[in-house]
Amino acid sequence: MKQTFKLLSITLLGIVISVSALAQENQSQSLRIVRGKTDTVRTNVHYIIGVAQKGSEIFINDMPVKQYKTGSFGTELSLNEGDNIVEVRVVTGPSTETESFSVYYKKPEAVTAVVSDSYSDSTVPLVVTKKGAYLNYSTGGDRLGGAKINFLDEGIKMELLDIKQDLYKVRLSENRYAYIPKRFAEILPVGEETPFSLTSSWSVINTGKADKVTVVLEDKHPYIIYSEPDRLIIDVHGVNCNTNWITQYLDLEAIEYVDLNQKESDVLSVIIKLKDKYRWGYTVGYTGNRLEITVNHTPEVLRSRSRKPLEGLYFGLDAGHGGNSTGAVSPSGIEEKDLNLAMIYMLKEEIENRGGKVMLSRSEDIDSSIQERTDLFREAGVDMVISVHCNAGGSPLRPMGTSTYYRHIENRPLAEVVLKRLVELDVNNFGLIGNFNFGLIAPTDYPAILVETMFMSSLPDEEQIASPEFQKKMMTKVATGVEDYIKMVRSSL
Ligand SMILES: [Zn+2]
Repeated sequence: MKQTFKLLSITLLGIVISVSALAQENQSQSLRIVRGKTDTVRTNVHYIIGVAQKGSEIFINDMPVKQYKTGSFGTELSLNEGDNIVEVRVVTGPSTETESFSVYYKKPEAVTAVVSDSYSDSTVPLVVTKKGAYLNYSTGGDRLGGAKINFLDEGIKMELLDIKQDLYKVRLSENRYAYIPKRFAEILPVGEETPFSLTSSWSVINTGKADKVTVVLEDKHPYIIYSEPDRLIIDVHGVNCNTNWITQYLDLEAIEYVDLNQKESDVLSVIIKLKDKYRWGYTVGYTGNRLEITVNHTPEVLRSRSRKPLEGLYFGLDAGHGGNSTGAVSPSGIEEKDLNLAMIYMLKEEIENRGGKVMLSRSEDIDSSIQERTDLFREAGVDMVISVHCNAGGSPLRPMGTSTYYRHIENRPLAEVVLKRLVELDVNNFGLIGNFNFGLIAPTDYPAILVETMFMSSLPDEEQIASPEFQKKMMTKVATGVEDYIKMVRSSL
């Protein structure tokens, strides 16, 4: 009996102890950090995840944090370089529990600095780009300046290798250099480090009028854009790929897919495969350290029937020169700026008769810079730009003729169909000219071509172009060429 009692009491005691232990645990589940107590990290986005007794108030670095019904909580911290103190405070009724720890954020170092002592040396001076900056291939120059590679966004740092006349020779990557006009870059104090980035995840989304690719970097890097008929390739320099995740939504309209290629140890290609045969412009630039590439959709109006051929399209029309800039002057004293303005009004009428909407870069005899004109078109969001000029040079005695120009390969078909219409008139074919370094057709935001109607310096040409009837005929041909182009686009969709 005694024995039995003893056994029973021990058993009972055991039960009481375990029940009370259980109750204790339920009442005050102590704070537990399950993620984020990391000694050293290499990315500045850091998650703190933990669990505490249900119904508590949680604060991380004094910021209130939501606690879920499960008792779990979490937050995302943005770490500074070096030591970061994290304090998690749990308030449960009258009691408070606190846990502190530190996380060291070590910024990834430029791997290339180890590989090569000439590259990524912090004693090498850097330059940083200003608004309107662009890269040139060489130190060469002509009437319109040296051959351009492409525009660059502002705030991009590059190593300065040399100074040649009014150009800075800059390093893009270990194996590639280029030139930038001095007025578009500023030398930074020595000691700044050459930017280096690992890429993280990308995304591709439809923003309504364009598809946008976002590549997250750790700094701003120079890029070189290659436009192929069905692809856009952006080579980002000074970058190592660490991307294992590219989110691509199904509602994309301009982009079929994106892909990547680490083509050199420090050059990453962002490859964008395009859906449509004809192109409507793109932009490349930075928002913070995010490289953003937008590819415009084909105007929606071209996918449905319309009463008039150019209905729903917005045209930027540019009459060359103006004001003090007279342009070419013909042997009899006619100024190019006046002919250009007269013709742009004729072209405006032709485009409007076909249902198009028009914006003029100048509507009177005033001079405005290429930058002002392109800013105007860019801000208005025009669908296409046509610049009208008259040519000069060559033989003054022979007919020289008409020509059209494009800068970017995707605008070749447009320049070609317009030229085909123009040469239906009784004029010499001076040619279809590509890679033309003229500022007004340099933007990539929209398709843009230049029409050099006739040569003011040629007597036979001058005689023709001086006639308003002939000017009108030429502009009718330009508008018909644009109409042909739109038909080609429609039938390709
Ligand atoms: Zn001109």
